Amino acid sequence: MIGRTAGVERADMVVVGRGLMGTACARHLAEAGCDVVLVGPDEPAERTTHEGPFGSFHDAGRITRSIAHDPVWARLSTRSIARYRDIERRSGIAFYTPCGGMMAGPVQGPMSGFTQGFLSCAAELGLIHERLEGVALAGRFPMFDLPEGTVAAFDPSGGVIDPRAMRRAEEALAVAAGARVIAHHVTGRTGGSLTLADGTRLEASRVVLATGGWAAAAPLTARRPALRVFLRTIVLAEVAEVEAARLAAMPSLIWVPEGGETDLYLLPPIRYPDGRFYLKIGGETESPEARDGAVLNDWFRTDGSADAGRGLVAELRRVMPGLDIRATRTGACAVSFTATGHPYAARLADGVTLLTGGNGAGAKCADEIGRLGAVAALGGAMSAEGLGTDFAARFDPA
Ligand SMILES: Cc1cc2nc3c(=O)[nH]c(=O)nc-3n(C[C@H](O)[C@H](O)[C@H](O)COP(=O)(O)OP(=O)(O)OC[C@H]3O[C@@H](n4cnc5c(N)ncnc54)[C@H](O)[C@@H]3O)c2cc1C
Repeated sequence: MIGRTAGVERADMVVVGRGLMGTACARHLAEAGCDVVLVGPDEPAERTTHEGPFGSFHDAGRITRSIAHDPVWARLSTRSIARYRDIERRSGIAFYTPCGGMMAGPVQGPMSGFTQGFLSCAAELGLIHERLEGVALAGRFPMFDLPEGTVAAFDPSGGVIDPRAMRRAEEALAVAAGARVIAHHVTGRTGGSLTLADGTRLEASRVVLATGGWAAAAPLTARRPALRVFLRTIVLAEVAEVEAARLAAMPSLIWVPEGGETDLYLLPPIRYPDGRFYLKIGGETESPEARDGAVLNDWFRTDGSADAGRGLVAELRRVMPGLDIRATRTGACAVSFTATGHPYAARLADGVTLLTGGNGAGAKCADEIGRLGAVAALGGAMSAEGLGTDFAARFDPA
């Protein structure tokens, strides 16, 4: 910490956004010897009265997998997964359950490109996976009733992560390396001068903006990043402990339902903070979009869409007809899609680095995306990272 005078804190590097990307970025910067302050609100104890901002990691489960239908995402995930155990060991916080991750889809019809995508990507990158179809698929995962003609890739390094715990682990390592944490949000920025919600002013030599969907909905950049922020609904299906035990061999699943126009995702039973076991299902063809922070924050105060929830419960009953569901409830979240289909990790003109754009898939690879944010903030070149793209940012037309 460079210093503090009369209500003004000074820092070399300030990371704004204590979410998955920002916290990982702060960890990599602090462990590289930088003087780092990490700024952002805690997860609210009471969601319905919280003014915002929220976070797209306020949950106990996210799918992780190396396989993907885009080599860039597959590389981001493979590198992150390779570091999970080290982060767990050094922080003392467990977050990774390698119960296997599976992607499944049709080889014919309008969605066959999805299936060809993950199969050829796995082959091209030499990712360890098992190709399963027909009797072998049904025999291996009898809990699923997948459509006729489905081909699947099973990734043994995949499974689930606890995003809350992963973020805590990254923050613990950042703090152990000297980073400081301020649990407030930023309400304004002029160059390296930041104003926080409690009136504190932070003066930074360099700033990383890692505010997720709020990067577009409530921008802290002069121009609005080209980011579409969609308001999503998820369903949590409660099962008894004995049912969770029966499904102990269940992997996480991304599949295309019969006649589906998009893929859905499903997580195996996870014990949530309320002590109960829930499977989680999500994925929507269409969902509302947030163009401003008020709309985005309002959404997080709701339980999501009841209609979307009903559709997801019907799909869950279709893919797992034998599942003994005790109760279901819905929840709200938001995903941020970039114009490039890849995250933005880019140093902008005024010494600010923009780090955002999970595209609905950024949790599993947040550690590598965070590392790229650190590389960009320190002036490094993305072309040297060997990931197959430059993570350049795009902005809305002026
Ligand atoms: C329903 C759902 C399911 C998903 N499932 C998966 C999955 O299975 N696997 C997967 O890999 N990914 C998944 N994702 C995507 C993943 O959760 C996101 O890509 C990831 O959380 C994005 O990380 P982030 O750091 O960009 O944003 P967040 O994690 O949202 O963090 C942004 C942080 O910035 C803070 N912030 C905002 N404005 C300010 C401000 N002005 N000042 C300070 N702080 C601020 C916020 O409070 C928040 O803490 C899912 C997302 C959703 C919504």
